[in-house]
Amino acid sequence: MSERPYIYDFSQEELAEQLRAWGQPAYRGAQIWDGLYKQLWAKPEEFTSLSKELRTMLSEHYRFTHLKPSITLNSSDKQTHKTLFKLPDGNAIETVLMRYDDRDGSQGRRTLCISTQAGCAMGCVFCATGQMGFRRNLSVGEIVEQVLYFARQLKAEGEHVTNVVLMGMGEPFHNYKASLAAIARLNDPKGFGLGSRHFTISTVGLIPAIQRYTKERHQMGLAISLHAADDELRASMLPVNQRYPIKDLIQACREYVEVTGRRITFEWALINDVNDTPEQARKLAALLRGLNCHVNVIPLNPTRGFAGKRSTRERVAEFRQILEAEGISCTVRVRRGIDIQAGCGQLAEAEGHKGQQPIQISN
Ligand code: SAH
Ligand code: SF4
Repeated sequence: MSERPYIYDFSQEELAEQLRAWGQPAYRGAQIWDGLYKQLWAKPEEFTSLSKELRTMLSEHYRFTHLKPSITLNSSDKQTHKTLFKLPDGNAIETVLMRYDDRDGSQGRRTLCISTQAGCAMGCVFCATGQMGFRRNLSVGEIVEQVLYFARQLKAEGEHVTNVVLMGMGEPFHNYKASLAAIARLNDPKGFGLGSRHFTISTVGLIPAIQRYTKERHQMGLAISLHAADDELRASMLPVNQRYPIKDLIQACREYVEVTGRRITFEWALINDVNDTPEQARKLAALLRGLNCHVNVIPLNPTRGFAGKRSTRERVAEFRQILEAEGISCTVRVRRGIDIQAGCGQLAEAEGHKGQQPIQISN
């Protein structure tokens, strides 16, 4: 492994400091920042705005590429692309690009689903990442480079990243500082310049982090993985519920909505005969009454380590109807990239089972 520090781990101030130490004028720092985050240059040689000498210094002092794409899968409809990146320490993470047609009213959205940790400590039973266990936190640079990697690809096609969701591997609020710093980095108007409202953070419901996030009054979207409307069922699926029960979680969500004035999203993976019953739908509606929120339901993606099945079309429709009849807005999400195991952590998890039976996924 190279000893040179990773350039995307540094803030603009830290890089400027280094350049000062090298006796460079201040505007060089701004040029490098622009090259990294606006021009999306990936190697020192591309920094043609700099002297050859400075380019050499950059390459001698910093590592530019850290994520090594090892597998890329494209869904059969060519709309979803998933890359498994190998990190220098041997860990693997996944990033997914989802293209949406102009046709469906989303104005050609290009959404990236990025990882914030290698593995995850939260152990949600239906989640492939949870089944892997926790490996480590990603650094700011490792989170940011996932976006830059796909941004470069899109740029070559005359397109750009329009949305970033922190819904890949890992729990962003369990790696709070780096996740928020990565968003701030990508948000910087002097650099990548993606507006705050184009980001969404998804959390399993770590209450102290939600409270901190509320206090900090961020403008990014916030989604809570709820998946069950009573403590017994939720704790059987999401161990974190033993520590942070539903009542307290919803209270923290209400405070978030009150303080920020923003709508909050709840996620619900529908599992046949488990959490897709009319009783769960009615309990959910009761929990969310009066809260400015939206519910996203998605039929479960099957994973190797969990026997549950996804809900049938009829049960999905019924669940949604109950919520809507109770005045709760609800969208059924289409499962993207099911043929490429685009669900959270599925590819990295499968890597760890090479030689065993592949998981069977059918549409
Ligand atoms: N750790 C965060 C973000 C990553 S998971 C969180 O849990 O919110 C992103 C979303 O995918 C979460 O809502 C999670 O519950 C959901 N998810 C995980 N495994 C899934 C599966 N097998 N099928 C459907 N949704 C799943
Ligand atoms: Fe972690 Fe989210 Fe998967 Fe739960 S659903 S194990 S919090 S990544």
